[in-house]
Amino acid sequence: MNVLSLSKGAVLSQPVYEPGKPIEDVARELGLDPATIIKLASNENPFGPSPRAVEAARKALTQAELYPDGGCVVLRQKLAKHLALPPEQVVVGNGSNELLELVGHVFLGLGDEVVMGNPSFIVYKLVTLLFGATPVEVPLVKHRHDLGLLLEAVTPRTKMVFLPSPNNPTGTANTQEEIFAFVRSLPEHVVFVYDEAYSEFLDNPPDLRPLIKEGRHVICLRTFSKIYGLAALRVGYGYCSAEMAGLLNRVRQPFNVNAIGQAAAIAALDDEAFAAKCAQDNRAGLKQLEAGFTKLGLEWVPSVANFILVKVGDGGRIFAELQKRGIIVRPMRAYGMPEWLRITVGTSSQNERLLAELAKVK
Ligand SMILES: *Cc1c(COP(=O)(O)O)cnc(C)c1O
Repeated sequence: MNVLSLSKGAVLSQPVYEPGKPIEDVARELGLDPATIIKLASNENPFGPSPRAVEAARKALTQAELYPDGGCVVLRQKLAKHLALPPEQVVVGNGSNELLELVGHVFLGLGDEVVMGNPSFIVYKLVTLLFGATPVEVPLVKHRHDLGLLLEAVTPRTKMVFLPSPNNPTGTANTQEEIFAFVRSLPEHVVFVYDEAYSEFLDNPPDLRPLIKEGRHVICLRTFSKIYGLAALRVGYGYCSAEMAGLLNRVRQPFNVNAIGQAAAIAALDDEAFAAKCAQDNRAGLKQLEAGFTKLGLEWVPSVANFILVKVGDGGRIFAELQKRGIIVRPMRAYGMPEWLRITVGTSSQNERLLAELAKVK
């Protein structure tokens, strides 16, 4: 019997996530020196992690023979203090991607509908399909989530709504007023997953803690992969009611978050100045890219995140041309936007190099 035929129904039809290309792969394929390649494809922090986080990780590595703290006690305490919530309302994951999968484990099954924007983070759709639920995709309006349209898509079968703000890949955000009105209009049988992967880049990020406090079924997800520059170590966290955190803790692996990541995350939270500087430099980088695109006569979508969409015509061709020149960006065909590229904001010299190469190939 063919092993494929033994797999469960959803697996064979499951689409595969296409990540940004690693620098080493591109270097090997194109015969380039890895040191000359820049990656502006996965919204990583071009300034790296805080030196204090690196030092803490190095120290933790010397005790790599020990299992990590399965309850992430110290990190959760630190996050709880940061959020002014009890630690019971904080849950830590192997990146926020794991938390997205855990909400699927807890809540989603056959026949459930899950409402999400399109284009938005592809993982929402993958998680929905993985658990046999049905994605209900609502087109964005002017590259932004229209929460009125999302609400119209909610039916008696809706189990969950995903909303990232700022949205990936468009970089657009919704206001606190819009989100509060939306969540307060949701029926009780809907869980609202609010993905704050890029919220630290906002001046005044919406604060959904009052919604959690008044008993709405809300979970907010954050990550150490973006502004904290720790994507390799896979640490994300969620905050929600203690009841919901308890459900997620039931379905996770006992040692889901590694010790090096926990130590680095704790230290990263102690270096607020580093994160603040990264947010500030990101704003300057966005302005630099916007001005550069405008000068090249290219349309772009105003972004409040650490990446920006730019319309280049044949996105696949420009992606390949830039890659040959040692710059990895993200083509948007998988998101249904073949004329666009998503470009992560780099350091000012990386942005300058990107703009110079783009001018040559566009
Ligand atoms: C990058 C990103 C994440 C973070 O994923 P991790 O698993 O924490 O690295 C989550 N949501 C969105 C929308 C993202 O773009």
